[in-house]
Amino acid sequence: MLQITCPYCGPRDQDEFTFGGEAHIVRPLDPDSLSEREWGDYLFMRENPKGNHKEQWCHSAACGKWFNVVRDTVTYEIKAIYKVGEQAPEEETCKSHQPEPEND
Ligand SMILES: [Zn+2]
Repeated sequence: MLQITCPYCGPRDQDEFTFGGEAHIVRPLDPDSLSEREWGDYLFMRENPKGNHKEQWCHSAACGKWFNVVRDTVTYEIKAIYKVGEQAPEEETCKSHQPEPEND
């Protein structure tokens, strides 16, 4: 089973988490100005990389907070975990590390 380190609670088994799909999908500010194709792309088109993928996860069985994960889609290795609103780590710095949980 995959172990995921919630940035708020610490390491836990994957079954405490809910996968939320690709991270950093931003809703268009003015959806009415989009063509049908642009709106369809926003709703349905997602990356499907072989390698590092930025994903959203929610610690649904505990704190309920959302955060982002960089996970290798080939090995399932989690390369980085960062909070919503934080900058995604650069590819070169996506080493095997997981954050320390907060003490609050
Ligand atoms: Zn948590």
